[in-house]
Amino acid sequence: MKLPNYVSGRWSEGHGTGEPLIDPVTGDELTRISSQGIDLDAALQFARSQGGPALRGLTYAQRAEMLAKMADALAANRDEYFRLSLLNLGANQADASFDVDGAIYTMKYYAKIGRALAEGKMLKEGAQMPLSKSNAFVGQHFLMPTKGAAVFINAFNFPAWGLCEKAAPALLSGVPILVKPASPTAWLTHRMVEDIVKANILPAGAISIVCGSAREALDHVREEDVISFTGSADTAARIRSNANVLRRSVRVNIEADSINSAILGPEVAPGTDLFDLLVKEVVREMTLKAGQKCTAIRRVLVPRQQLQSFGDAAAALLSSMKVGNPRNPEVKVGPVVNKAQQSSCLEGLSKLKEECSLVFGSEEHFQPIDADPQKSAFVQPTLLSCKDGVGAKYVHDVEVFGPVATLVSYDGLEDLVALARRGLGSLVVSLFSDDQDFIRQAVLGIGDLHGRVLVVDSTVGSQHTGHGNVVPSCMHGGPGRAGGGEELAGLRALMLYHRRFVVQGPAKCIAELSGLSVDASLLYS
Ligand code: NAP
Repeated sequence: MKLPNYVSGRWSEGHGTGEPLIDPVTGDELTRISSQGIDLDAALQFARSQGGPALRGLTYAQRAEMLAKMADALAANRDEYFRLSLLNLGANQADASFDVDGAIYTMKYYAKIGRALAEGKMLKEGAQMPLSKSNAFVGQHFLMPTKGAAVFINAFNFPAWGLCEKAAPALLSGVPILVKPASPTAWLTHRMVEDIVKANILPAGAISIVCGSAREALDHVREEDVISFTGSADTAARIRSNANVLRRSVRVNIEADSINSAILGPEVAPGTDLFDLLVKEVVREMTLKAGQKCTAIRRVLVPRQQLQSFGDAAAALLSSMKVGNPRNPEVKVGPVVNKAQQSSCLEGLSKLKEECSLVFGSEEHFQPIDADPQKSAFVQPTLLSCKDGVGAKYVHDVEVFGPVATLVSYDGLEDLVALARRGLGSLVVSLFSDDQDFIRQAVLGIGDLHGRVLVVDSTVGSQHTGHGNVVPSCMHGGPGRAGGGEELAGLRALMLYHRRFVVQGPAKCIAELSGLSVDASLLYS
């Protein structure tokens, strides 16, 4: 069986035998995908010529209504998404919920906030600018939904959320989407698209899916299109430098990998609530989705005098987390997504071990519960410790995309800031401290190289939203290595799918155009 692709308004199977999708616990083949023979040029043309005009014929509020219906259609099939998450990702309930419920929540969130844009067809930005003495000739900036298609190239770790967090702002903007999920876990995205298509909510051409390699999509994008990519920094570089993408100045948003850090404040002593809260957070980040989150904590920057006690506390908690087949109710940590990822994790780990000592895990004959180590793709949660963060290289550079984190000691604020900045641009950093001066200095020292800074003090305690959680009202993305992209942040996400232009003309003409527009300041409210 092969999953059909949905392009040009119809389902069509790719040629050839295709690529197998595998259960990472049993090693069994589940289904196959192929994009061979799929005319991607025609698919994009259909999206631009059919889907785009139909979507833009609606107002923002009508499109928000469409998102609400999509969210309902997805919510109705939630159990099936959990089943596929278990089969194709080895996800337990918590892992699946993070992806699937996060996806449905994000869709609902955009349905709700999108209504504020009401009847507008485009956005008006800022005030009118007088350009002549009599004010007869004026200037006004507008933002218009692009008349192209949005191409989503997604990572394997969030097949549900990755679809919805991109689809909601694009469709709300009036831009049709073509999604290419990562091959190893394409099934769940495919099923969600199938459910949306079956529910008959979107006009023809508004949504397409291609499962399989589909590299040549980049050769068919045009000036009006937008590429939104999530994945590794290496692939990001290839996409950015594609000749067609460069020649046509196609807009590209990149969400890439990231060596995120969490910081324990200098005054936080072992045994305090704040200390324990960070220990818990580090272990949660290592084990949820088996550490396969772009936002996961990879480095824990700890005052040198607390390195040992932090390691002991985290190791004690990690030892209580059972690893194995998620079908066993006692199990808390599942596998990574496939054998290739397992090898990549082990390879990265061996590099980290060159400059770190072992605190927990990485046993030579590790045996996952109810799973055959030969067939399955488990990585034992592993915590490392690095006493020479300044001299270390791999710790700041190698993203082990699995249940692995490294404690790195720091000596004072200056050292800490320098170490955090060695990530060269990260999605998120968190600061656990009650020292307001330290927090202020640290934020000023590292804010520019991080997309999100999570600050937790004793007044916040466990009410914080989580280091790795991306909430749709706040920005997701990061500079430098993290790709330089920005997603979500409420209605700001619509900016990616709008083009700014200015009209310099008669005041009457500008007034008429303004009448078709919604105030862009709503994007920031
Ligand atoms: P990946 O290997 O870079 O693949 C990502 C996507 O790019 C897949 O759909 C892949 O398709 C496609 N692709 C690969 N080579 C391509 C090329 N030459 N041209 C066009 N498309 C290409 O990443 P991954 O292994 O799926 O995901 C893990 C990585 O994603 C981690 O590094 C993680 O940090 C990052 N990530 C980042 C975020 C974020 O928001 N910043 C979120 C999640 C994950 P195929 O699967 O068909 O090869």
